[in-house]
Amino acid sequence: MALITPEQYEESLKKRKPKIFMNGKRVEDYLNNPNLRTVIEANKASYRWALDPAFQDIMTALSPLINDRVNRYVYVCRSREDLTAKAIAGTFASERLGTCIYRCPGLDAFHTLASTTWEMDKNLGTEYHPRFTKYLKWIQENDLAVSGALTEPRGDRKKRAIDWPDPFLSLKVVEKKPDGIVVRGAKINISGAFVSHELVVLPQSAKKKDEADYALAFAIPADAEGLTYICQYSPYSAEREMAEDIFELGNPLFGQRETAMVVFDNVFVPWERVFHCGETEYSLKLVERFAKTHRMTCGGTCKVGFMNLIIGACKLLQEYKGLEKAQHINDELTEMVVLRETGRACGLASANLGKEEPEGSGVFLPDELMGNVAKLNVCDAFWRVMALAGDIGGGLIVTLPSLKELKNPETKKYVEEFLGFGSDVPTEYIMKVTKLLQNWTAGQHGVGTWHGAGPVMAQKIMIQRVVDYEHEKNLVKEALGILEKKGG
Ligand SMILES: Cc1cc2nc3c(=O)[nH]c(=O)nc-3n(C[C@H](O)[C@H](O)[C@H](O)COP(=O)(O)OP(=O)(O)OC[C@H]3O[C@@H](n4cnc5c(N)ncnc54)[C@H](O)[C@@H]3O)c2cc1C
Repeated sequence: MALITPEQYEESLKKRKPKIFMNGKRVEDYLNNPNLRTVIEANKASYRWALDPAFQDIMTALSPLINDRVNRYVYVCRSREDLTAKAIAGTFASERLGTCIYRCPGLDAFHTLASTTWEMDKNLGTEYHPRFTKYLKWIQENDLAVSGALTEPRGDRKKRAIDWPDPFLSLKVVEKKPDGIVVRGAKINISGAFVSHELVVLPQSAKKKDEADYALAFAIPADAEGLTYICQYSPYSAEREMAEDIFELGNPLFGQRETAMVVFDNVFVPWERVFHCGETEYSLKLVERFAKTHRMTCGGTCKVGFMNLIIGACKLLQEYKGLEKAQHINDELTEMVVLRETGRACGLASANLGKEEPEGSGVFLPDELMGNVAKLNVCDAFWRVMALAGDIGGGLIVTLPSLKELKNPETKKYVEEFLGFGSDVPTEYIMKVTKLLQNWTAGQHGVGTWHGAGPVMAQKIMIQRVVDYEHEKNLVKEALGILEKKGG
């Protein structure tokens, strides 16, 4: 069977030696680093769900490539039903993890490559598609965890990559050899790659003819020679390091959305792992196809799951405080539900309107307009939900003492008496639910949601490309009997 157990996944990591830095120091024991551990736990959950008969329909699919059941996160959609199942899986995973399903950018990169390598081969006579299909088959057979990397450091945004004094602010080929290419540069903000098996790389932006060395897509082992991970570090990272018990934290097992800058210092990529090299006219297609696929996921599926957690916490606090009948709070909860459902609707619509792209490729991608609308909507909706949760949770969301006080004999009784709302609910529960809301409303998720899968301007640009307003103008012209030209 092509599904591995969570234990096999963790075991496989022991053989690897990725070069990881965090908070100014090399991470020697990356399996037991408290922050990196959260990503391992999230990935393990994705393996566990796939083996659970109760979740098999959501977390697995039958792959014709290997004639076996594979994890949903290595399966490329072949129908609208598959896209819908992918959307449902996104919410399923995110509401259980409360953080990234880290295998998602890799999966969206697979969709992009499956479709665009097919098109390049058809139009240019390249041989990328069989190469990519062989790679995907290997990934499915071994049930590997794969990350996706597009975002780059970039220089002065008014200039193009070839005009930057440092040419490596975008990932670049430095040498072409008979057996492969050597690349130098970096990708930033990359989710969970340090504990993936593989890293799939796509270009970040459109390329012009003279930028052929930047028109690149390939896959490498996530511990390849020359790769260095420089991890994010925040007050939340420090808090986790200092915790005596993870249940003091707002998302105990799965933590924050963990990312790293990935430095490629002359990394060798064998040709059999290169899927785009110099065909500048296809770089934009790769970017756009990744964008719509990932925006359906980020906007219309995973934030729906995150909102479920926020709504659940708000409802519990409303009840703990005896505010069940407070009309404005019920209105706020209703508004949250409407925002959540709007997000879900956009995600499902982009799946249901998805189509084979390009025709004949067998690859189904979400609808471009709805994928972008899903993400654009959620940028504002998530901030609004955070604000409403802040109102319901009260100031305690930010003034909460440490849950360690519940173990401190000098303070325990005061904390229990004065933070217990005088109710039957154990103070520990009140503090834990409030801590969960602190994680969502007073932390990294607002900006993370805004920028993950691209900030709003990126979605607006795509929407403006898709909508030409001809249909809308014609409706009005027809209704009013307006003729095309004067005297016509
Ligand atoms: C939690 C999280 C997880 C992520 N995971 C991944 C991942 O796994 N893989 C991956 O590849 N990426 C990942 N990203 C990166 C994400 O896609 C980027 O953060 C996003 O595209 C924005 O890019 P940036 O952060 O460089 O911001 P910037 O591009 O610096 O944006 C800042 C502002 O500048 C504007 N701007 C930027 N360039 C221009 C321009 N040329 N002209 C006009 N305005 C401009 C933007 O619209 C925005 O208003 C992740 C991000 C987050 C926050």
